[in-house]
Amino acid sequence: MKILNVKSRSRDEFIAITEEIQQVVSSAGVIENGYCILFVPHTTAGITINESADPSVKSDILMMLNALIPREAGYRHLEGNSAAHVKSTLIGVSQLVAIVHNRLELGTWQGIFFCEFDGPRNRKVHIHLFDS
Ligand code: ZN
Repeated sequence: MKILNVKSRSRDEFIAITEEIQQVVSSAGVIENGYCILFVPHTTAGITINESADPSVKSDILMMLNALIPREAGYRHLEGNSAAHVKSTLIGVSQLVAIVHNRLELGTWQGIFFCEFDGPRNRKVHIHLFDS
């Protein structure tokens, strides 16, 4: 298992990590074809795959998440970050990506994003590589 360290700078932020993950896959070398499991070990963050070409897409997703899940809504969790917990559960904390010829199998417009919902913080993404 490899660990990618991610430093967020805002409370809510999508951070592109495709190149960093691809570097881990490439440097592992031995995986010609297989699978990459990405796991975020946090309760107020997530990981998603979506369009990376137009940065407006990640802004739109964040805007709608904030509209759907307001920061204050009579939550009972006393830590004051319930909205972040809800967003984490909606987005999810893992992704599975196939590796084909030592490359992450992503569509032309797809990128992998670490999703911060309670930043700024130092975060981690666990990377598990499997040979098929
Ligand atoms: Zn909390």
